[in-house]
Amino acid sequence: MLSSSVAQYAAQYGRTPHLAVIIAGDDEGSKSYVRAKARASAETGIRNTTIELPATVSQQELCDLVQSLNADDDVDGILVQLPLPEHIDSCAVISSVALEKDVDGFHPLNVAALWQKRPCTPPCTPRGIIRLLDAAGVEIEGKRAVVVGRSNIVGMPMSKMLLDRNATVTTAHSRTKDLGAITSEAEILVVAAGSPHLIKADMVRDGAVVIDVGVNRTPDGHLCGDVDFDAVAAKASVITPVPGGVGPMTICSLMENTVECYLKRMNNVAGK
Ligand code: NAD
Repeated sequence: MLSSSVAQYAAQYGRTPHLAVIIAGDDEGSKSYVRAKARASAETGIRNTTIELPATVSQQELCDLVQSLNADDDVDGILVQLPLPEHIDSCAVISSVALEKDVDGFHPLNVAALWQKRPCTPPCTPRGIIRLLDAAGVEIEGKRAVVVGRSNIVGMPMSKMLLDRNATVTTAHSRTKDLGAITSEAEILVVAAGSPHLIKADMVRDGAVVIDVGVNRTPDGHLCGDVDFDAVAAKASVITPVPGGVGPMTICSLMENTVECYLKRMNNVAGK
């Protein structure tokens, strides 16, 4: 359990890991993600400071805040909740986070390290999915994997991490022709499109492992994934529900990334 390791580290190093989360604006979805991260931190024994800013915050104010957290020796991880208000250059803000505190794994140098197969902080959602596949005993090596979606946050790093585990990977996206023909070949299918019930049973191979990353809100306010769960579950060997599948694994990975950033910092201090 991560919480017992955190307690041991806190006793050993004399301080607990500390995650700072910045949220700008009033997006309800983002607020609920930030609350879930604070809850998970409390359960794990990680100190959490959530800083709420108005949607009108300026780029300079946001970057100044990040700089002050970068310089704060008591902060181990900095997470800037996305999306940021439209007038903010998200890329510039993410790049301003100190590399050693980039618990989201979105800093350009972390991304580069992932693509060059060097040590890095991996992005939370793909990391959580790999852990989920391993925990379910799914053999990845040699499998035909299809990832639907090519975002920097999920689709692209997911494809790369499956490739690094020796799957044969196809990345599908919004311009892919005949998506069903591609997804039907997948032994491992990861769907991160943000399109409710995009994947129907006839698009899935018998016995496939189906990982649904999508989080969509139906008109009646319920959450649903990108996969038509009931119909696809009848064909899949493994399938993740929404909610309750990939989401909790993403948060679990965030906790792991925070503890790993903390340990690297603590060991650097000890080595000086
Ligand atoms: P995004 O909008 O940045 O990217 C979506 C990708 O899907 C794009 O690359 C696009 O080409 C592709 N796509 C869209 N419609 C498609 C279609 N009809 N056919 C094929 N490809 C299509 O989104 P994102 O940030 O990657 O997130 C994707 C989904 O995953 C969203 O629902 C998001 O809320 C969810 N998400 C969940 C978690 C979690 O922890 N559960 C984490 C991150 C994102």
